[in-house]
Amino acid sequence: MGDSVVLGVDIGTTSTKVVAYDTDGDQLASHSVGYPLDEPHPGYAEQDPQLIFDAVVECLRTVAGELPGRVAGLSFSTAMHSLIGLDPDGNPLTPSVTWADSRSSAQAERLRAAPWGLALHRRTGTPVHPMAPLPKLVWFAEQEPKLFERVAHWVGIKDFVLLRLADALVTDHSVASATGLMDIHQLVWDARALGIAGITEEQLPQLVPTTTVLPGLTAEAAAATGLPADTRVVVGAGDGPLANLGLGAVKPGVVACSIGTSGAMRVAVERPAVDPLGGVFCYALTEDRWVVGGAINNGGIVLQWAGDALAPELGEHPEEQLLALAERAPVGSGGLIMLPYLLSERAPHWSALPRGAYVGLTHGHRREHLVRAALEGVCQQLALVLASVRAAGNEVREIRASGGFARSPLWRQMLADALGMPVRFPAGHEGSSFGAALLGMQALGMIPSIDVAADLVEIDETVRPEPAAAATYAALLPLFSELYDALVPTFASLRRLAPSLPPEPAPTAPPM
Ligand code: ADP
Repeated sequence: MGDSVVLGVDIGTTSTKVVAYDTDGDQLASHSVGYPLDEPHPGYAEQDPQLIFDAVVECLRTVAGELPGRVAGLSFSTAMHSLIGLDPDGNPLTPSVTWADSRSSAQAERLRAAPWGLALHRRTGTPVHPMAPLPKLVWFAEQEPKLFERVAHWVGIKDFVLLRLADALVTDHSVASATGLMDIHQLVWDARALGIAGITEEQLPQLVPTTTVLPGLTAEAAAATGLPADTRVVVGAGDGPLANLGLGAVKPGVVACSIGTSGAMRVAVERPAVDPLGGVFCYALTEDRWVVGGAINNGGIVLQWAGDALAPELGEHPEEQLLALAERAPVGSGGLIMLPYLLSERAPHWSALPRGAYVGLTHGHRREHLVRAALEGVCQQLALVLASVRAAGNEVREIRASGGFARSPLWRQMLADALGMPVRFPAGHEGSSFGAALLGMQALGMIPSIDVAADLVEIDETVRPEPAAAATYAALLPLFSELYDALVPTFASLRRLAPSLPPEPAPTAPPM
């Protein structure tokens, strides 16, 4: 049996999860280990690479111990955009600086505004945004020049884990397509991007296809995980493209849409392309399968915020009650529009400047309108991303959705109405780890093609747009979009003004 089992290893931002799958897509065992996201200064979001490596080893040891036979191999998924500087012996000189880290906002804004900023995005597939390694490298060069000089290799978190596990300094085309440093059309490190970053090709891992199979584990890794040293290791890909695969949204024209804490929308395509305005990213899954789309910072987080800010009396898990409140307000929230940029925003504008806004408030609006407008704002933002995906020349045939929001029938319907298309909800699979396992099975010759994913994933429910609601959202979308443009000067002024505003008062102790 073991020879038909692949372990999907998903190195996420909050935890690593290892899941054992067989070729029918059945889950045989799983284990996850969490770790902190450190925020030592405002805007910093970093992690200890050693803790993450230890979590991977612990998950592998636990899952391997639960399986009766040997496994066919391991295959990896990772949160994208992380950056770690290594010394010549492969020891970290920096933390793992994650996608959520915005310390390089000023560098990113400057690069984006350069005459070649858009061309850089279109050539590398990665928006010029502080999430990406390119502006982070510029930040290190400018702010930590001595450290920058000492770094022998710049890698991502999965590259670091593979270096330790399999003694190979490699990165796959998928993760590399999210660094801002690889030419997505030639599949080589981009000389101009490297020049901007001030690094050489020798300082980066070797570029390899996502289906590359490494021959085995180091003796130490074999001993620590309990896996045989000749266990094959598939290099794998980024968690976004693999989430498409895990949802079966892998054939051209099929979109994977998620609303968890944040959100994303990605359509599978056969050839890399970014729209003329640079509204989308383009990341690789394999050499002939890419995903085009956008991530949004503000998904389910707006519901959490609404609970904290508008309804604190509802306690720690107010989701159901907030959604019941939202249901009492009409479609369109009585003309109240919320720009949900509580954590700034990414797609489709990719600027770190925006802040949230309520526009259209009247005397008649109540709390339920404020909550509903926030949920509608998330769906409308995804509708803007969908428009950019289409503007990049992509046909959209089908939308599959996943994430915490799907627990709410109201929010499911709202998404279908805002996107103006039926939305299909797959039955529960662990998106990215399942995607990693499927990619691994293809790489190891256990399945003919990753296209089988479309058949392995069962659809639970299809939600169709309700015509009147869809027409209301379609009428409101241009206003939603124009508001962003109208407020850009205000966002910039607020950013300038922020340092001179009075600080938050120190919290006072609650009365005894
Ligand atoms: P993550 O992206 O962190 O893995 P999830 O996919 O679990 O998160 O989604 C978390 C989000 O789901 C929360 O931010 C919350 O807004 C939303 N959520 C939680 N409970 C419900 C619910 N009952 N109905 C709709 N949304 C919910």
